[in-house]
Amino acid sequence: MTIPVRQIDDPRLSQGRWLRIPGPTVVHPAAVKAQTYDLFPHRGKQITPFMLELYAKAREAHRTEGQVLVWAGSGSAGWEAGITNLLSPGDKVVVTITGAFGERFAQVGKTFGLDVHRVEVEWGQAVTPEMFAESLDEAGDVRAVFITHNETSTGVTNPLRELAALARAKGALILVDAVSSAAAMPLEVDEWELDWVFSGVQKAWMCPPGLMLAAVSERAMRASASNRMKRFYFDLAAMSDAARRGGTATTGALSLLYALDAALDAMLDEGMDAVWARHARLGQCFRDGLTEMGVRVLAEPAFASSSVTAFHTPGGQSAEAFQERIDTCSGVAIATGQGPMATTVNRVGHMGWVNQPELEATLEAIREAIQAE
Ligand code: PLP
Repeated sequence: MTIPVRQIDDPRLSQGRWLRIPGPTVVHPAAVKAQTYDLFPHRGKQITPFMLELYAKAREAHRTEGQVLVWAGSGSAGWEAGITNLLSPGDKVVVTITGAFGERFAQVGKTFGLDVHRVEVEWGQAVTPEMFAESLDEAGDVRAVFITHNETSTGVTNPLRELAALARAKGALILVDAVSSAAAMPLEVDEWELDWVFSGVQKAWMCPPGLMLAAVSERAMRASASNRMKRFYFDLAAMSDAARRGGTATTGALSLLYALDAALDAMLDEGMDAVWARHARLGQCFRDGLTEMGVRVLAEPAFASSSVTAFHTPGGQSAEAFQERIDTCSGVAIATGQGPMATTVNRVGHMGWVNQPELEATLEAIREAIQAE
């Protein structure tokens, strides 16, 4: 079998410089190493203390005293696990739709028979508290809200704290897709009274793909205990019991858990406030760099994301051709837009194991590609 290896001749292009899509992102060096550690019996005495510590670190990073659970799976597992545990067919939910991932959240809700009410904005915009309040009022008796914290398809961050406060005042459960926001921007699970906050470790958590993390409130646990939806692998009670005993309900993805543990150490050493501030700085620096080149950022400035930037392709060429040129000129990989913006918009991730030099290399790659046109 041949495993693909990126051949990079230019010594300036370490992995950290060329992989600039919004996930998977560059894996932290300590997480790379941790994956090679020995495996132990997954319910043995060596793993229990390790897992209890891992859970404690995950709680700290989520700013919660409640449980943070971890399943083998990608971020999408968080939609399904949240819905099947917290909601029952026919429940009314209000869903923020700011791009492709909000759309997917609504779709998953429909798949499981929920009564989905959409609060939708043009791509590049955020859902404002005013709009959200109006939608909640119109919908009436709402069981839950689904909020995409950071819309990866557009590079827009919704004002989660304010939206959550409105939902809480109505007594609705709050389910948050934090796939591209967790570990990159302020996310206060307890203070903002969020009930189900899920993410995938291949984004700002600096790990390879394969784990879904979910922070769960006591309200969510109670809702799960009384709900009628069928589930097995994602059953909250089973996972919560196992986690309390220092394990996972099924065989834990040990090597990925080692990687996550190492990444959490790195993050907590830096400090979550410092991690979030670094991302905010990098986001601003990247948008400023694009604007200086005359490139138009998609997101409305007040809601521009700290973890991903979507921008219109310069010179009216197709996004695919533009990316091809960047790859040829500089070896840097960026992503296309999604859905209706697949051919006109490009996206760059600046989350996780990234700092100023990598972003400057990306800006330089974009500049060269524009000049080569
Ligand atoms: N939600 C958001 C905001 C995302 O960005 C993604 C993936 O990019 C997902 C959900 C789905 O995650 P995954 O592809 O890991 O299943």
